[in-house]
Amino acid sequence: MIFELLKGLNIAAHHMVRYMAGPGNVTVEYPEVKREQPPFFRGRHRLQRYKDGLERCVGCALCAAVCPSEAIYLEAAENTPEHRVSAGERYAEVYQIHLLRCIFCGFCEEACPENAIIMGPSFELAMSKRTDFIADKGDMLDAPEKGFGDYHEYDPYISHVTAESDKKAKADPWDKSHAAGH
Ligand code: SF4
Ligand code: SF4
Repeated sequence: MIFELLKGLNIAAHHMVRYMAGPGNVTVEYPEVKREQPPFFRGRHRLQRYKDGLERCVGCALCAAVCPSEAIYLEAAENTPEHRVSAGERYAEVYQIHLLRCIFCGFCEEACPENAIIMGPSFELAMSKRTDFIADKGDMLDAPEKGFGDYHEYDPYISHVTAESDKKAKADPWDKSHAAGH
């Protein structure tokens, strides 16, 4: 009994000294400082575009079909020569995710054949109205000028999308050999 108590105190003292010493300190001054998330972190969803600004989402609804929480609602529409929104035949005219239903499982991004929906590093979900938890395209879609640069190259499934890795991922979404670091 005494031995276990001393053992426990020893572990607590060890961690206290280690964290107070500096590099091991895990406290950050949130919200001024935001902790960097690991590459596979499943935070808030983002809808990506191609470099030319066209939306990657083709409105196929696979993400909605696979979602275990039925959190995704979308309405697809046809592209026309005068009004082309995505690179495919169709695009998502309406795309919404109910963040109060979502369990952040990541099935939607894994099912997406276009690498259109990804789960980014943003973990902030505090809102004052229930309706604010329904994320729409305005909340999730990358601004056209951001294209595929910097952070927006981030893809939790294949780590970083390059033109080559994008081509391979589409050819065989289950082949992860092309992922960064593999
Ligand atoms: S992360 Fe999971 S629960 Fe959330 S929208 Fe995607 S598939 Fe649905
Ligand atoms: S996000 Fe992907 S899976 Fe969902 S509708 Fe768009 S293209 Fe299809």
